[in-house]
Amino acid sequence: MSNSQVLIVGAGPVGLTLAIALGRRGIRTTLIEQKAAPQFLPKMERCNARSMEMFRRLGLADRIRAAGLRSDVPMDVFIILAMNEPPLVHQRYPSVDQARAEIRAVNDGSQPLEPYQLISQYTLEPLLKSVAETLPSVSVRYGCEFLTLDQDEVGVTARVKSLDGSTATIRAAYLVGCDGGASPVRRQLGIKLRGENLSEMRQALYRCDELFDRIPIDNGPGHGRHYHVADDRATFLIMQDSTRHWTLHAVVERDEDMRAMFERTVAVPVKYEMITCNLWRQNLLLADSYGRGRVFLAGDAVHLVIPTGGLGMNTGVGDAIDLAWKLAATLQGFGGPNLLRSYEIERRQVGERNVGASRYASLGRRKWRGQYRPFMRDATPEGQMTRDNLVRIAQVEQPKSNEMIGAELGYRYVDSPIICDIPGGPEHRFREYQPTTWPGARLPHVWLNDGTPIQDRICDGYTILRLGGTRADTAGLARAFASLGAPVTTLDVADAAPREVYGHDLIVLRPDMHVVWRGNVLPDDPISIAMTATGN
Ligand SMILES: Cc1cc2nc3c(=O)[nH]c(=O)nc-3n(C[C@H](O)[C@H](O)[C@H](O)COP(=O)(O)OP(=O)(O)OC[C@H]3O[C@@H](n4cnc5c(N)ncnc54)[C@H](O)[C@@H]3O)c2cc1C
Repeated sequence: MSNSQVLIVGAGPVGLTLAIALGRRGIRTTLIEQKAAPQFLPKMERCNARSMEMFRRLGLADRIRAAGLRSDVPMDVFIILAMNEPPLVHQRYPSVDQARAEIRAVNDGSQPLEPYQLISQYTLEPLLKSVAETLPSVSVRYGCEFLTLDQDEVGVTARVKSLDGSTATIRAAYLVGCDGGASPVRRQLGIKLRGENLSEMRQALYRCDELFDRIPIDNGPGHGRHYHVADDRATFLIMQDSTRHWTLHAVVERDEDMRAMFERTVAVPVKYEMITCNLWRQNLLLADSYGRGRVFLAGDAVHLVIPTGGLGMNTGVGDAIDLAWKLAATLQGFGGPNLLRSYEIERRQVGERNVGASRYASLGRRKWRGQYRPFMRDATPEGQMTRDNLVRIAQVEQPKSNEMIGAELGYRYVDSPIICDIPGGPEHRFREYQPTTWPGARLPHVWLNDGTPIQDRICDGYTILRLGGTRADTAGLARAFASLGAPVTTLDVADAAPREVYGHDLIVLRPDMHVVWRGNVLPDDPISIAMTATGN
């Protein structure tokens, strides 16, 4: 029997991120994956700004950008009849280079530190795997299937099967199921998913080296990320990170039909190869609970959304980052019982909100698609009227899928036992982000006078942020954290911008940069802040 502190089941992007976040903290972690190796199968392609901020804290943002889409390619979204005709709708979204310039130009807390990054899941997974494999405390085992688990007062024993059919047991203090939508771990715990099972679509992956260069710029849509075809098959074409691979989604009967759909969408003769084709189901589902006892669940195992809005993997990466520091703090001895209890309270509310955001986005898409009529292409007054109508509705409805900045950056943990919560607070909005340091919120990004971001100064423990040259005596608060064995750093930042954006002299942050407490004067019993923050 092998022994670990944490056993992770499933090496999708969520399990791999969790393994890296634990491994960087020195936690003895075993990651098992039933597949023999990462697969070249298309799924997610857009890491959102918040995930990129998290990957930056793991030291991975530059590597992910180097492996992903070139930084000069725009992320525009189109509604088209075909690729060789001017688009019906053209929505402009900046390339990473342009987004960086926009981020650099403002300092009011409204921007993320990192722009989004287009990187195909089949590129990201091997990259994360290679990072996890370099961490001395992490053991990565592909070709190892989770079968069953038993838990007791002090740990979990999992039975696993290797590719040669032999079985073994792995013992760990905690187990995390990052094993996707079908999650055998969730099933074994008897936790149900609730919500809606929606339609099935086919997705095919193509290699087409010439398409990117042949997309007409003047009399066609031009370069971008998504090309939605106005038809009755819900067809859309997605550029993958190499610009040589493309995926097409459509409601068709047979795999073979996906060739005709690709050719019809591309509309000019191109050399291409259809590499894979599979069915996938659109779901809007949330688990009743995020674990039991010493077993936790993260990612698609607990929330399944329609990719509109790009909140699938991105929500799961947030789960992994949240759970990692709480598991580490508990295993390192300074995390109290509320720390792991807060995981479900904090992350399930985000899961629930993001399932709602995805529903909102997909209803918008359904609304403009509902305007399609077979005679739409006709050069008749009726055809023109139908096109005009679809365009008018799509201009309002389609941005719902691509402009989720509020859901991405603005989530705030409410009613958490490890936040010094106060009633009220800014409303959660999917599409608007209002920078705030209300307890529970993510610390907004601010540039310092020397041109560096404040986020890079926040270390991987608790931080007492002293702003605007405050003279408040925070030594007692630092001592309170230290007395609990919790790592704490006091950071004095005299620059004007953070004090102005954050609105308070003092802020206490947790390792994931969420605000625990803020104020101008410390309470008489600073130990209460440290006790709450550490879950004691
Ligand atoms: C077409 C499409 C487009 C998408 N686009 C986006 C997007 O742009 N942005 C976004 O954020 N999300 C997107 N998503 C969603 C995203 O792909 C998922 O949310 C993401 O894969 C979830 O990651 P995960 O690690 O939780 O689960 P998975 O990626 O499903 O990984 C689970 C892993 O667990 C393994 N496993 C399962 N059972 C066992 C077992 N018994 N033993 C060992 N291992 C096991 C599986 O083999 C798998 O490798 C998209 C999805 C689809 C289908």
